[in-house]
Amino acid sequence: MKPQERILLCLAHMSGNEMKYINDAFADNWVVPLGPNVNGFEGDLEKFIGENKRVVALSAGTAALHLGLVQLGVGQGDEVICQSFTFSASANPICYQGATPVFVDSEPQTWNMSPELLEEAIIDRKEKTGKYPKAIVVVYLYGMPAKIDEIMAVAEKYGIPVLEDAAEAMGSEYKGRKCGTFGAYGALSFNGNKMITTSGGGALIVPDEKSKKEVMFYATQAREPFPYYQHEKIGYNYRMSNISAGIGRGQMTILEEHIAHHRHVHELYEKAFAEIDGIELFSNPTNEYNSNYWLCNILIDEDKTGFNYEELRQILEKGNVESRPLWKPMHLQPVFANCPAYVNGVSESLFNCGLCLPAGPWVSDEEVAYIIEIIKSAIRERKGK
Ligand SMILES: *Cc1c(COP(=O)(O)O)cnc(C)c1O
Repeated sequence: MKPQERILLCLAHMSGNEMKYINDAFADNWVVPLGPNVNGFEGDLEKFIGENKRVVALSAGTAALHLGLVQLGVGQGDEVICQSFTFSASANPICYQGATPVFVDSEPQTWNMSPELLEEAIIDRKEKTGKYPKAIVVVYLYGMPAKIDEIMAVAEKYGIPVLEDAAEAMGSEYKGRKCGTFGAYGALSFNGNKMITTSGGGALIVPDEKSKKEVMFYATQAREPFPYYQHEKIGYNYRMSNISAGIGRGQMTILEEHIAHHRHVHELYEKAFAEIDGIELFSNPTNEYNSNYWLCNILIDEDKTGFNYEELRQILEKGNVESRPLWKPMHLQPVFANCPAYVNGVSESLFNCGLCLPAGPWVSDEEVAYIIEIIKSAIRERKGK
């Protein structure tokens, strides 16, 4: 049964298998941040991700990004290149490490980091500071794969490791390979509104068993192997709870269905918007890209529709439909005002005309039709057509 009438962007949806794993945890008293569900969930994730990668389950996607930076040796005085068009959680961990984010704008096809601008930024930082940035954080915004081949080529040319923020892109693929497996490390999120949820949680995709052990060490307070508590490094309390991991194990049984549903909803929007002048749906640029369509996004041509994104947001709100402006680029955020930024206007112009529409597992065909009808009638009202 659907929990509420309001149509939400992406509401958590249980498979029905979650309670079994949670009950196991209670029965065996594994109510701690380690245990069979954590190991099982990691195994499930490793199988799903493929590419011989290892996965560490953590308390949040943000924690995963943070430990990715720790693994890459990012510290005080370093610069880290970060996609500007993203959620703040991509950039905040750079600051936790005492490093400075250097923001790079997007290209218009994938809305993700522009490979050309990335190279410009790298060259310019070297010129200005005398050293190369320590790492590159590339994001798969709304689940859309970035131009990762080109980004990796630039990164390798200058010997800079890539940390992929695949928090929104679980199951997305580029040329048949899962997002999060191209760079040195990749982060996933299982927050309440992501592709699957553990109520709150994340994971770091790592290259091998050795780095998995290192990440687990940092995630559990960096305790050295002594009978007493010995510490030689700064640690974190970032491990995933065995209860959360139980939810995760249940969610893994329905992940493929969730992804298929998001893609189905995108297809419904695609058909409908093809007939609406002035609204463009954000879609895979070519068949090399296979977005999970975590959220479906539209760009609004105000001259043709008669409304801008904020007016449409309010119109949808009156119909009890949740929608949301696109992520406001980090280079426009007051908190990052003093960070270097390499900008081409792409993310700012997307932010000024885009809107995210509901696409989660609870969104039915009828609800998509209802959303489309609200938009169509708003255009009729404004433009008399
Ligand atoms: C959700 C999200 C994160 C952070 O994940 P949490 O699990 O909420 O900490 C990071 N980056 C992006 C792009 C996200 O959307």
